[in-house]
Amino acid sequence: MYEKQIEQLIILQHVDDDILILREEIEKAPLELADLETQMDGFKDRRVEIDERLDLLKEQQKKLDFEIDEDAGKIKKSKNKLMLVANTKEYHAMMREMDGLEKLNRMREDEQEAVKEELVRQDDATTTLNDDMSGVKEQYDALKTTLDERLAAAQKKLDSLGRKRKKACKVVPPPILGRYEFIRERMENPVIVPVSEGICSGCHIMIPPQNYNDLQKGQQILSCPNCQRLIHWVQIEKPVEEEKPKKKKKAAAKKPAKKAAAKKPAAKKAAAKKPAAEKAEAADKE
Ligand SMILES: [Zn+2]
Repeated sequence: MYEKQIEQLIILQHVDDDILILREEIEKAPLELADLETQMDGFKDRRVEIDERLDLLKEQQKKLDFEIDEDAGKIKKSKNKLMLVANTKEYHAMMREMDGLEKLNRMREDEQEAVKEELVRQDDATTTLNDDMSGVKEQYDALKTTLDERLAAAQKKLDSLGRKRKKACKVVPPPILGRYEFIRERMENPVIVPVSEGICSGCHIMIPPQNYNDLQKGQQILSCPNCQRLIHWVQIEKPVEEEKPKKKKKAAAKKPAKKAAAKKPAAKKAAAKKPAAEKAEAADKE
């Protein structure tokens, strides 16, 4: 009788596993899109920065062009006037002024060169950025067009699983279903787990021998004393051992002993702590 109920609970567990996977998919899909959106926003900010920098550089370039032209004109004028100068003092003064202007223009030309180089760098940065942007945009568009379809498909599957779940619930006796649901609301999936070689596969801790004996008798549905999940016994088949008796036996004998020894203290500790917390929580609910 209990075997049948365990079977029904395992079916229910499988449905719940599938539901969880789908829910996660439904939750995760829009996050991917949001992540790409954030990336695109970052690109846009960077684009604004580069554009501002380019504007500044172009302005600077214009200003330098103008100043160079202006002073070149002054120099030209002075050169023409130089012929008409009456005395040496005036001549030297004009020469000094022209020297000063020429020096200034040479400095401006150096600056112009630097601005040009920086403009090339910023243009390169724009090209790289545009490539990156269009890559992400493509990804975004592709994801966006499929997202709605994916979500609709997942939702449809979820609805069908919901119906399957209802059916599965109907065949489980109410008190047992109640226990299942009670655990499901309080613990991480799964609710019902196999126990093989005395170890609960929910918390990976060895259950006490007495509980293990009871479990093997199969006269009631038991909970793991440590994690409180419903447990069912799974007998491990050992045909391999007979093929290579020496090596396999040694390994098989060693492993569970080691595992149990390592995990036992933790089991005791957790077992001592957890049920109290669970009980308190349960009491709160009721
Ligand atoms: Zn457990």
